[in-house]
Amino acid sequence: MTTHKLFIDGEYRAAKSGKTFDKISPSTGKKIADVHEALAEDVNDAVEAAAAALNGPWGKMPKAERCDLLMKLADAIDARKADFMEAEVQDTGHTRGFAEKVEIPRGAANFRIFAEMLKNTGGEYFHMDTHDGTGAANLELHRPKGVIGVISPWNAPFLLMTWKVGPALACGNTVVVKPSEESPATATLLGEVMNEVGIPKGVYNVIHGFGPESAGELLTQHPKVNGITFTGETRTGEAIMKQAAIGLRDVSFELGGKNPAIVFADADMDKAIEVTMRSCFANTGQVCLGTERIYVERPIFDEFVSRLKAGADGLKQGGPDTDGATIGPLISAEHREKVLSYYKKAADLGATIVTGGGVPDFPEGDYRNEGFFVEPTIWTGLPEDSPIVREEIFGPCCHIQPFDTEEEVIAMANDTNYGLSATLLTENLGRAHRVGGKMEVGLVWVNSWFLRDLRTAFGGSKSSGIGREGGVHSLEFYTERTNLCLKL
Ligand code: NAD
Repeated sequence: MTTHKLFIDGEYRAAKSGKTFDKISPSTGKKIADVHEALAEDVNDAVEAAAAALNGPWGKMPKAERCDLLMKLADAIDARKADFMEAEVQDTGHTRGFAEKVEIPRGAANFRIFAEMLKNTGGEYFHMDTHDGTGAANLELHRPKGVIGVISPWNAPFLLMTWKVGPALACGNTVVVKPSEESPATATLLGEVMNEVGIPKGVYNVIHGFGPESAGELLTQHPKVNGITFTGETRTGEAIMKQAAIGLRDVSFELGGKNPAIVFADADMDKAIEVTMRSCFANTGQVCLGTERIYVERPIFDEFVSRLKAGADGLKQGGPDTDGATIGPLISAEHREKVLSYYKKAADLGATIVTGGGVPDFPEGDYRNEGFFVEPTIWTGLPEDSPIVREEIFGPCCHIQPFDTEEEVIAMANDTNYGLSATLLTENLGRAHRVGGKMEVGLVWVNSWFLRDLRTAFGGSKSSGIGREGGVHSLEFYTERTNLCLKL
């Protein structure tokens, strides 16, 4: 049985409380690890270690050297790819393909890209005229913000955690990471690699535990945490914001979504099916950017529905060890209960169940019967104010609605509290610009989905987030700017 300890000040430590909790495999329903739970004393130790490291060798290291070290770290992650992959798929039940092609390489890239960028980023300079004729020079200086609390979710644990740790460290901060209780393994393993490449102790710390009255809440309440970056549910973001208000700590939030895809009659149908198959069902629908609402122009509605059904019916359910599996389990029994409650609600509300709607039927004795699998599900026929169309389900499911005009579909797509992403399928460039510009979201994809250039601003509007991270935009959160005005 694996044990995940805390990683504090460069060493693995047992929780001082002696408390541990179980990590359950999503694909088999069996316990796979004991995880140490950090309570007040451990959280304090981690934050103090991070604060002390700001004044140690890390704080004194020239930027170029710090960035070189992070490049080495990215190489070391690549070298240990198999270990990270194994840790990730066991925790999450993800198919190996997703972990191998997307999650682990992006984890390494998150260090590489920010180290490269920081090395080549300067600041503003404004010359100012003065009445005495000598002038003044205004220089922009960047200082690290300090100790950054990183709270991350379980849906793409390594990718999402390093998306925050990469820029935080490149900017010279230190971090205390609280990974999701459902996915402790890769954050823990990263400690080993940090030591291997010589990242000074205290720069990267990991505490395990839950949110309320546990490691998450204790971390966000700690007075020596200078900024909190969080990815997770909107409701949790609201709780963290209250916790961060004491001491006025800055927050950066990447939250939930209820993302629309709009398929116009001029779309390339093969492309539209390929894109929406991925955006609805990749990672078993557990992607913040995933599509749960599809709007299809009426003339192609029936064809689109039947082809998406065929695609969904062709997915093969399985865990990381199932040959050829294209869709895995949900993360936990609790999450499966939530998703199934929406499946039931849709049926009760009179939705047309195009496919799915329940739990797959595996042969007797098949280990998958104990895992947290649900059927990929497609509905039609519900009104726009139905909870199925309004609330984030975070499962492999979508509702498809017909539309007749551009104005009508723009209004339906924007009629939501969320504002993370939208996907447009059209071959008409003018329409792509016109409709794309009217989407009230942080990201719009045209004829693709999840195509990410890490130099661009990433984040959501409305209840989908606060702030933008990515490229130079990450500097906004991970540094403090000082205007140094030199009278000449
Ligand atoms: P969650 O909000 O339940 O948990 C996320 C993290 O917050 C976990 O580590 C949890 O322990 C911690 N937490 C919970 N309560 C806390 C509290 N009061 N104080 C401090 N920490 C607390 O989210 P989840 O279920 O792990 O992840 C799924 C959600 O994340 C979905 O809503 C999804 O849309 C969202 N998400 C958003 C993005 C994005 O970039 N916008 C990316 C991935 C996931």
